[in-house]
Order: sequence, then structure tokens, then C-alpha cells
Amino acid sequence: MTNKKENLMDKIVSLAKRRGFVFPSSEIYGGLAGVYDYGYYGVEIANAIKREWWKTMVQLREDIVGLDSSIFMNPKVWEASGHVSGFSDPLTECKSCHIRLRVDHLLEDKGIFADEKMTEEEINKIFSEHKSKIGCPKCGGKNFTDVKSFNLLVKSNLGNFTGDLKKDPVYLRGETCQGIYVNYKNVLDSSRLKIPFGIAQIGKAFRNEITARQFIFRTREFEQMEMQYFVHPDQEMEEYEKLRKDRWQYYLDLGIKEENLKWKKHENLVFYAKEAYDIEYKYPFGFSELEGVHARGDYDLTQHSKFSGEDLSYTDLINNKKYIPHIIESSSGVGRTFFAILCDVYNEEEINGEKRVVMKFPKKLAPIKVAIFPLLKNKPKLVEKAREIYDLLKLDYMCEFDDNGNIGKRYRRQDEIGTPYCVTVDFDSLDDEAVTVRDRDTMKQERVGMGELVKYLEEKLN
Ligand code: ATP
Repeated sequence: MTNKKENLMDKIVSLAKRRGFVFPSSEIYGGLAGVYDYGYYGVEIANAIKREWWKTMVQLREDIVGLDSSIFMNPKVWEASGHVSGFSDPLTECKSCHIRLRVDHLLEDKGIFADEKMTEEEINKIFSEHKSKIGCPKCGGKNFTDVKSFNLLVKSNLGNFTGDLKKDPVYLRGETCQGIYVNYKNVLDSSRLKIPFGIAQIGKAFRNEITARQFIFRTREFEQMEMQYFVHPDQEMEEYEKLRKDRWQYYLDLGIKEENLKWKKHENLVFYAKEAYDIEYKYPFGFSELEGVHARGDYDLTQHSKFSGEDLSYTDLINNKKYIPHIIESSSGVGRTFFAILCDVYNEEEINGEKRVVMKFPKKLAPIKVAIFPLLKNKPKLVEKAREIYDLLKLDYMCEFDDNGNIGKRYRRQDEIGTPYCVTVDFDSLDDEAVTVRDRDTMKQERVGMGELVKYLEEKLN
């Protein structure tokens, strides 16, 4: 890791807090590890990300419909999916500083690949063999406890009124796609969809992550955007290739720089998977998973058929043949997309010897689209005119009215949150009915008649 990269992480975390993008959760009580809140600008960005995803996945697709399933589900779902028995990460503890660590990550940092499928014993063996080369990332210590599998499902006491902890817990969902699988039949029966078709949803998921230390990259509560596409077994790989292409293009359309993205193929597939790739983003700590695009075979519906006793097969009405649909999935995270975008748009520039930090968000993702300033706050006529413009523009866009400090300072504040346009009402405006519009990226200023302002911004912003 170079200093520059470490720097970028620090700068982004600090900007995110200072400018209301991301706050640590319940901070006045010392926070809660691995949990974050989106602030007043952050929520706008997160909503814009979700809007773009929904538009691509649902609005523009005749063959994909939306869903909003509950966080709590029948605990059998998690048995059928394999999460109760197998959704775990290998855990060790540093004997000196007692920090908990993920063994697969420690090994990976040394170029040793630990497979998801390995048993506790197997991974313990590899870890013992390489332990001497590995130091605790916190204190440098070299003494670790034996590796234990640590289940990531988060339990609740929902419906448990006796306080009997041995009773089956109701889990907080560990991924949103299980809600899709268990609703597959409801969607099919209540719609005119035919295979191939998809179901998409955005929602919270919870995982008891062992290490949650990379800002919003790995959190214990997070939001997923998942689409599961149901296909005939013979179509699986062809549809999978299409989905991979679409997902790559989606990130480019979102404005992410292509050089910061790459595909990573899963070398050791879980037994049911046909093929699996991740789209990785170049975060300040290196390329890491942003989204998974997987061909899952018939595993999910077969398991749920078995455990629920419901027939989840599909009947092709043309040839009257029955089969269990195969599934290809796109699974991404709001937080990881948010973080990737923050890294991607962060810019520092020097203007006349002064540093400006400018977040060059694509316009559709900028939390505030237009800022409106009266040149001076103690001139009622300017304030009144600027307020009039603000009241008009806010009907179409998230706008901000700012009359505090000199214009240069106000520009810098808007640059830091990535506002594409600033509109200033000055003394000339009172005579010529025109305002100054300043462009975030070029910093060029243009005089625009107030009568044309709405149309001008519409052309620029849409
Ligand atoms: P990793 O290997 O990084 O733990 P994963 O392979 O377990 O991730 P998936 O189960 O494939 O992740 O989840 C799909 C997507 O959900 C990920 O690509 C990521 O965007 C998001 N996601 C998963 N876990 C987290 C988390 N703890 N915090 C934030 N986002 C997450």
C-alpha cells in the first residue's frame, strides 16, 4: 500500500463525515463497530444509486419485475439455503492483542489461497503451516488461536417470548436473494411472466462480519441490490454471458472509470455453481469485490423444493415439459457502490495557488444539483430574487440556498459535495434579469436570462 493510497482512504473518510455523506452509527455513544449511517447528502447519493439500479434492472426490462420481501423469514429458509450449516468464515484471534481476524484474508495477503469449501481442519492445517510468515496486522504478534468456523448469520429473538435461547432463532436475513427464491412461485402465479424472467430487489442484509474495518466496504448491516434470473438449463450460460456484459456496462454508465474495474474469476467453485465472476473495484486498499455475477445452476430452487415440500418446477406450456429453472444472479451492494463512486470522483486541483477539492459526481448522482446564492446576504432585493429562483428550481431538483460567506467560499463548499451548477444573483441581475451560472468542472461562468434558466438547466442536467 502506498502512502498516496492510504491518504485517499483517510481523505474520503474525513470528507464523508465532514460533509454529511457518512456518519459512524450512534457516535455519541462511542459508535457501533461495522455500522454506519448515511447523512443528509449521503442519503441523496444512496437513493440515486438505487434509482439508477432499479431503472436499469426493472424499469427498462420487460422481463424483470421488482419485489420487496421482509427481513425476517421462516428459519427453515436458512437451513435450506445452507446458511445455518455453512455460512461461515474462518476465525482466529491474536493471542497478544486479542483482535479477531479472518484467516482466509490473512492467507490471501501472503498469496495463499484458502478455498471457501475447505473444512475447519483443512484450513487449520494450511494456517499452521504458514503461521510463522504471518503477523497480526494490529500488533505484529505471531501467536494465534486455532482456526474456528464462525457463522455469519445474525440471530434475533423475534417471537421468542420464553427467552429460551436453545429455541430456533429467527435470523435477520444474510442476503436478500432468499426472499426472491421463496417468492418465485408467487410471482410466476400472479404475473404473465414466462421463462426467462427475473426478479429484482433492494434491501438490507445483516452479517456478523469478523472484521469490519474498511469503512463502508464491509459492514455488519448493509444494503444489497440483487437480481435473480430464472432460465431453462440450456440457456444458462448464454444468459450468463449477457448478464456479465450488462453488468459491466452498468458501471460504465454509472460513470465509473473503466480502468478502476476488473473481472475476477472464482477458481474454486462451490459444487453447484456453473461459473462465477466478481466485478472488482480498485478501492484505496486494492481491487476488491463490488458485485458478484454467478451462474448458480438449479441449487436454490431444488433446495427450497426439498425443504418446503412445494413443487417449484416450471412447466413449459409449449411442449408441456417440467423442469427446475436454473438461476443466474447479479448481486451488488449499495455501500460498496457508494464507496467506489466516492473514490472515483474525488479530485484535488490547484486553482491560482489554492487547493480545491471537487467531487466530480456524474450529474445524476450529485446530491445537490443546483446551488443558489444571493451575492450579499444583507441586500434584501438580492436575497428575495435568489429565494424566488430557489423556490422555482426546487420543484425539479434537489437545490440548496446559501448566503453565507464570500462567493469563492460558497463555490468551494459546493465543489466538495459535487454540485454541478451554482447560480448567483448579483446587482446586475436586478436590471438585466439575468444570473451567473457557474459550471463545477470547467469553473466557467455564463450569464443566463432568468426566463431561460429552467430550460438551460434542464438541458444541462438531463
Ligand atoms: P466478501 O467476499 O467481500 O465477503 P461476499 O462474496 O460474501 O463478499 P456476496 O455474498 O456475494 O459477498 O454478496 C454480494 C454483494 O453484497 C457483494 O458483492 C457486496 O457488494 C455486498 N456485500 C456483501 N457483504 C457485505 C458487507 N459485509 N458489507 C457491505 N457490502 C457487502
